Amino acid sequence: MTLEQFEQDIEALRSGALAAFTAAQTAEELEAARIQFLGDRSGLLKTVQQALGAISKEYKPAAGRAFNAIKQVLTDAHEARGKALSRSASPAADLDLTMPARRQWRGGIHPVTVVIDEIVAIFRELGFTVALGPQAESEWYNFGALNFPANHPAMDAHDTLYLKGDVLLRTHTSPVQIRTLQTFPPPIRILAPGDVYRRDFFDASHAPMFAQIEGLCVDEGISFVDLKAMLSNFARRFFGAAKTRFRPSYFPFTEPSAEMDVECQICHGAGCSVCKGTGWTEILGSGMVHPSVFEAAGVDAEKYSGWAFGMGPGRIAMQRYGIPDIRMLYDADVRFLEQVAE
Ligand SMILES: [Zn+2]
Repeated sequence: MTLEQFEQDIEALRSGALAAFTAAQTAEELEAARIQFLGDRSGLLKTVQQALGAISKEYKPAAGRAFNAIKQVLTDAHEARGKALSRSASPAADLDLTMPARRQWRGGIHPVTVVIDEIVAIFRELGFTVALGPQAESEWYNFGALNFPANHPAMDAHDTLYLKGDVLLRTHTSPVQIRTLQTFPPPIRILAPGDVYRRDFFDASHAPMFAQIEGLCVDEGISFVDLKAMLSNFARRFFGAAKTRFRPSYFPFTEPSAEMDVECQICHGAGCSVCKGTGWTEILGSGMVHPSVFEAAGVDAEKYSGWAFGMGPGRIAMQRYGIPDIRMLYDADVRFLEQVAE
């Protein structure tokens, strides 16, 4: 036998054995392949080893090295395939298939967040972006710049949570208006959602911390007509085909100011216990930005005008989901949240 023939035999053994090991899908199939190629009695490796004796003396060392190399390759390949098969087989063997599945924990979005996201989505189509600000504010950002007189009762420590000196937990999201006006030149269209703090006891309709969402639109030539059009459009989108009405109101930072009501979604104007018989529910406070606010923020009040609104997404969520007690929104009781989470 020539060395060339011997090497051809080795190559045939190599490709045949590797293909058979890879094709084996069970331990039994792999064992059959092992016997066929590596078996001690009649395996092909044994046949090749016997052929080694017929190689002439001068080629014997090279043929011997080739034989040892192929033996190692095939032994390793057989071992690796065996390990792979036992890995893929063992989980099923260890598993009790009759065991009940573990219940998946599925998260949901908090009802207040759902309401905020919907409000943001509606105003985003009108060109509004979201602006955020710090929850610990100075007295000036929270009151002074928003045209609160120095002796306003809201600044009393009985109503506002002061942290240190003139630093307090913001009582509304309106300071974000000032920070935005100081940072960006008009035109401005922002929504400012976030948590605010009041010195209230927790009861069915009050919480010391609650969510608010603020809107601000500033540009040249903005009038009360824009305010009414935008907010009425929002009410139609958010509450369906609801009627709205504006009532005169007062806020230090807007002039004129108005509360917007929408037709009660429960009784559609007929009067019920939710709307206390009026047929209307109060949704938001709004108004034209007071010139003093523009001046405090360094905006030219002769050139620019604007409107702003603020509303409580918690109250809207309570109406929408029929939640009787505001504390349920903050108790983090999963049994309750599971019923309203979307
Ligand atoms: Zn009603």
